[in-house]
Amino acid sequence: MRTITIIGAGQSGLQLGMGLLDAGYDVRIVSNRTPEEIFTGQVTSSQCMFGSSLAREHALRLDFWAEGCPDVDGIAFTVPDDKGGKAISWASRLDLRAQSVDQRVKMPRWMGEFEHRGGQLDIHDASLDDLERYARESDLVLVAAGKGDIARMFERDSARSTFDRPQRALSLTYVTGMAPREPYSAVSFNMVPGIGEYFVFPALTTTGPCEIMVIEGVPGGPMDCFGGVTDPHQHLETAKKIVETYLPWEAERCRDLELTDDLGVLAGRFPPTVRRPIGVLPSGAPVLGMADVVVLNDPITGQGSNNASKCAASYLASILEHGERPFDRQFMHDTFERYWDYAKYVVAWTNGLLVPPPEHALAMLGAAGTSPRIARRFANGFDDPRDFFHWFMDPDSARSYLDDLAPAA
Ligand SMILES: Cc1cc2nc3c(=O)[nH]c(=O)nc-3n(C[C@H](O)[C@H](O)[C@H](O)COP(=O)(O)OP(=O)(O)OC[C@H]3O[C@@H](n4cnc5c(N)ncnc54)[C@H](O)[C@@H]3O)c2cc1C
Repeated sequence: MRTITIIGAGQSGLQLGMGLLDAGYDVRIVSNRTPEEIFTGQVTSSQCMFGSSLAREHALRLDFWAEGCPDVDGIAFTVPDDKGGKAISWASRLDLRAQSVDQRVKMPRWMGEFEHRGGQLDIHDASLDDLERYARESDLVLVAAGKGDIARMFERDSARSTFDRPQRALSLTYVTGMAPREPYSAVSFNMVPGIGEYFVFPALTTTGPCEIMVIEGVPGGPMDCFGGVTDPHQHLETAKKIVETYLPWEAERCRDLELTDDLGVLAGRFPPTVRRPIGVLPSGAPVLGMADVVVLNDPITGQGSNNASKCAASYLASILEHGERPFDRQFMHDTFERYWDYAKYVVAWTNGLLVPPPEHALAMLGAAGTSPRIARRFANGFDDPRDFFHWFMDPDSARSYLDDLAPAA
């Protein structure tokens, strides 16, 4: 039986581990936090996952919250004007619902399930020395440690990384008491040009249903104001103040907000980074990075957990197809490039939204206000952003799509 060790019990590590167990592999996952520590710890993400990611969890019999978690039925997009109104505003339903299950709820349950299905769960912070041991004991070691320090053993790929510093100051606020969006639930995405973005959607957290407010402030700008905030209630007030200042229609929904819990807040920033997929240990043994370790995106497009799901599925297919052959550097290279065939589009689209939008993109987003066809296509692109490269990302394809949409003579 082939033995595989995965460092990190997050979205990608656990999903891959379960797939490998199903295929008869001997799998060990190393986590630096116990299930209890994760459940009672701080929020880490807003983790909105779209239809194809949820379908993968269903196929692995891991969709324990499919009925209990509130659905996200659409995407709404708004750009305010400078008079307190809306310059662009539209919404469209998703073909398949999205859902967000707090990772504090999901990962502990999955860790229990992993052990129940025969996996070995080791609890400790894996060091390079530990990786050496795992490399000796296993046919393959994968590092799925997210933004953990150990990711730094993978060299930054400067050709594939667009930015070398954070592009947004991020904050999360998990709340109850928000008025629901009508007539259907959605990721309600608001873009304030030059200042930042605010998006909000329903989710399931440790205390039950909630809404997650995500604020992305341009560094140094007026939405980048969580720096000195240490008290969770001050954090909530800061988030409300931003919404009241820039987005009055969203502030209407926020009259009766309360925090889900004192650890339902987060603020931070990181540079979006692509890393080389093979890490080499002091002994010369190679290990393979996955998901956020190797392709870390800004959360502005809500793709990280979705990428982690797609990376786990892609790596699983590569491992199974490889059969009994050695998991050498060539295998690691090919496995990452197969995932990169998809991920490079997500990276390019996400990075494109972090800079001022080009004229053709603004024109297309505006046209979606009168064209349900464009709105629907944009909304459903969140599940597979490769489609944006057929009609949205460059001026020529955007013009030709708009020409196609012109009324028949
Ligand atoms: C503010 C914010 C909002 C976001 N919103 C969304 C969203 O709406 N939609 C979306 O799809 N994505 C979102 N993301 C991103 C998403 O949460 C991540 O991309 C995703 O969780 C990455 O999965 P992963 O498996 O790579 O790592 P993670 O899920 O981060 O898991 C890594 C695990 O490894 C553990 N670990 C780290 N180092 C070690 C070590 N040395 N030894 C053992 N264990 C270790 C960590 O404790 C952690 O449990 C958001 C992120 C942020 C910061």
